[in-house]
Amino acid sequence: MPPRISTSGEYFNCSNHYPKEEESPNRFMRTTPSNSYTTSITSTTINTDTYGSCISKISFKVLCGSTSAGSDSCVALPVKEDFADEEDYIKAGGSELLFVQMQQNKHMDQQSKFSDKLPRILGDDILDLVVIGCGPAGLALAAESAKLGLNVGLIGPDLPFTNNYGVWEDEFKDLGLERCIEHVWRDTIVYLDDDDPIFIGRAYGRVSRHLLHEELLKRCVESGVSYLSAKVENIVEASGGHRLVECEGNIVIPCRLATVASGAASGKLLQYEVGGPRVSVQTAYGVEVEVENNPYNLDLMVFMDYRDYIKRKAQGLEAQYPTFLYAMPMSPTRVFFEETCLASKDAMPFELLRDKLMTRLETMGVRIIKTYEEEWSYIPVGGSLPSTEQKNLAFGAAASMVHPATGYSVVRSLSEAPNYASAIANILKQRRDQNMLVTTGITENISIQAWNTLWPQERKRQRAFFLFGLALILQLDIEGIRTFFHTFFRLPTWMSQGFLGSTLSSADLVLFAFYMFVIAPNDLRKSLIKHLISDPTGAIMVRTYLTI
Ligand SMILES: Cc1cc2nc3c(=O)[nH]c(=O)nc-3n(C[C@H](O)[C@H](O)[C@H](O)COP(=O)(O)OP(=O)(O)OC[C@H]3O[C@@H](n4cnc5c(N)ncnc54)[C@H](O)[C@@H]3O)c2cc1C
Repeated sequence: MPPRISTSGEYFNCSNHYPKEEESPNRFMRTTPSNSYTTSITSTTINTDTYGSCISKISFKVLCGSTSAGSDSCVALPVKEDFADEEDYIKAGGSELLFVQMQQNKHMDQQSKFSDKLPRILGDDILDLVVIGCGPAGLALAAESAKLGLNVGLIGPDLPFTNNYGVWEDEFKDLGLERCIEHVWRDTIVYLDDDDPIFIGRAYGRVSRHLLHEELLKRCVESGVSYLSAKVENIVEASGGHRLVECEGNIVIPCRLATVASGAASGKLLQYEVGGPRVSVQTAYGVEVEVENNPYNLDLMVFMDYRDYIKRKAQGLEAQYPTFLYAMPMSPTRVFFEETCLASKDAMPFELLRDKLMTRLETMGVRIIKTYEEEWSYIPVGGSLPSTEQKNLAFGAAASMVHPATGYSVVRSLSEAPNYASAIANILKQRRDQNMLVTTGITENISIQAWNTLWPQERKRQRAFFLFGLALILQLDIEGIRTFFHTFFRLPTWMSQGFLGSTLSSADLVLFAFYMFVIAPNDLRKSLIKHLISDPTGAIMVRTYLTI
């Protein structure tokens, strides 16, 4: 089916997500029914004969958009050659790349520019550490490392935080970041198949992306981090074991160690283990809206609403993707709704999620009066770990720190930054004191020590367990998922909360599995056994657990 070009409330057909050149050589328009975001693409040379070949032919360049809030933006879209391989392309957004780029390039006037607050990297001295990427992970690591006395440079495009992060309030309090939470719900609820909610018993918060950005930037300023606004293209080894960080514009920054924190799609700067599990994707389409007939209690955050509102059998593609509603009632009339596909092998398309959300809201009797913002959340989950043989380090989503079963990583990155920074500082200091940095062998050793801090065998066991869980979720239909969560939320609180927050040890996770098995209904027990025996992640998990 050829793509549609629409000016009347429809997305162009992108499952084949990209327009064909011959249909309009110059300009493709897309408007949402709420008319809140208008996008046009210029300069296309696209061929969309099949989904697969679509990606190899993408070469359109410029995406221009304007939001209902009145901001305009034009961004260059990457081309296929910008990615290391197919996996890297999928991590960057794959078939949904256009929406991912729109999400990343939103204007956020309330956030400072890094270049206004941080001194510029001069490039004449060799820095101790270069951190690549200015997301939450990169900023936190740069600030913590500089606090320990390292001479740290941060390199990345000068972009604001554009994602709406949700966190368990206690976790953010433990990080001393409670002032960055803009809204707290005293409890969090889950609906599965009836109108009786399950109370999780834990307060949930919405992070102010502006306040978090400013706080992490302030930490960088106070600790003396220097900055360069540029995209990094390559990291090469120089004589003496130093690294040369090559940036766009032919700028080269020398350093003793480079840490890549440039998000999930970092395949051009890092090597990942070969033969690991294929990456899956969590996608969610959200809208922050003014509504009539908000059905949700203002004091409660709706973590998952899996109820079937539509009450008709899902057809075609829709049936492949079980989804739930994530809802944050901000006021009696202002709500953030997000239709979420927890994980799928191929990303659930945003246009499908959007249609599902609109149908769901309509069936619930919710009427949208005004749209403040749309959100396209694309989170790669699972996939391989970075190879620990490499000399460059990684942190955050680049280091596969995203929880495979929930898609969360921000709290883990922020909480591990101090420890990882001190591992880096200790190693560098040790080597510098001994003046032994000159040999290649020693720099290799440096990196392995740091990798082991990030991914010790214990962490690998936990991850193998989560990957096993992710693979199970991918196979369940909507009924299976409801049964799974019915069982999950009957676990002791420390287990279910620990699972969601990545705080259970590998031994705790074994206990978790036994407990789940004991209280699960027979159907789920059968699925669990079958999955353990037949899915490759079962054998990998057992092997990883047995490795000392
Ligand atoms: C809409 C949305 C909502 C989300 N909500 C949550 C949530 O509630 N909780 C949660 O834990 N996670 C959430 N996630 C996932 C979360 O965004 C990521 O896990 C998190 O941002 C990863 O942080 P990071 O710092 O590792 O990488 P990123 O935030 O991806 O930051 C990477 C940075 O590197 C820069 N960069 C990229 N390439 C280069 C290069 N070559 N050179 C230099 N710089 C480069 C990018 O510009 C970017 O600034 C959400 C994601 C999305 C999209």
